[in-house]
Amino acid sequence: IRSKLVAGNWKMHGGTVQNRSLLTAILAETEGLNGTDVAVCVPYPYLPQAQSLLQGTHLSWGAQNLSQHEKGAYTGEVSAAMLVDFSCRYVIVGHSERRALYGEDSHTVALKFKAAQAAGLMPILCIGETLDQREAGITEHIVAEQLDAVTKLMGVNALVKSVLAYEPVWAIGTGKTATPDQAQEVHAFIRSRIAAYSPEVATGLKILYGGSVKANNAAELFARPDIDGGLIGGASLIADEFIAICCAAK
Ligand code: 13P
Repeated sequence: IRSKLVAGNWKMHGGTVQNRSLLTAILAETEGLNGTDVAVCVPYPYLPQAQSLLQGTHLSWGAQNLSQHEKGAYTGEVSAAMLVDFSCRYVIVGHSERRALYGEDSHTVALKFKAAQAAGLMPILCIGETLDQREAGITEHIVAEQLDAVTKLMGVNALVKSVLAYEPVWAIGTGKTATPDQAQEVHAFIRSRIAAYSPEVATGLKILYGGSVKANNAAELFARPDIDGGLIGGASLIADEFIAICCAAK
């Protein structure tokens, strides 16, 4: 019922020369993948490059963050309208690195989600627990709080034009993937929490898994009923690896 999405999060990596060969390879090898959508979320300065290489192709592009404000005296910030100006389709909000390193709390993340949608962008909302939180048995509490911040501000129907990404912090960049069972369990919890408000919204919503997804574990994860694709960090920078992950999403 739900088609899959594989999105690369390049984080703070790239350069015009590497980007060109990476994007060219991905373009050539991911066409017509049984309805799987493929996207790349690139650093701001490379949005024009992504746009010029990917416009009119099957690949979408987007950014990794945005300001919650529309415009104004916010030095160093980038607005939703600016992302739309470069034809972004997606923008990641609430990535754990933003939450942990840049002090973004769930309310700020919800405001960013709102700003993205107001401009017509599709937010990819990241939620997930740390290792301490998992070990303390409060994973569901944490992801619920992160999710509820958005649904309380926006209403549950706002999720229709968004994508969720469950990213356990302990699995990000560590090589420690959540097992397919561990991921499925949390994905099912998230979907059921939304279903309590709206079964239709819950059924239609894509929930991606992120955290050390590689070519050799993607198929197993993506086969689980509530895992609708992946948000890929490190492996999205290696053409063969990312292409193989895209091919694993059927
Ligand atoms: P890695 O795939 O490098 O673990 O990163 C995951 C991530 O944070 C994607 O947003």
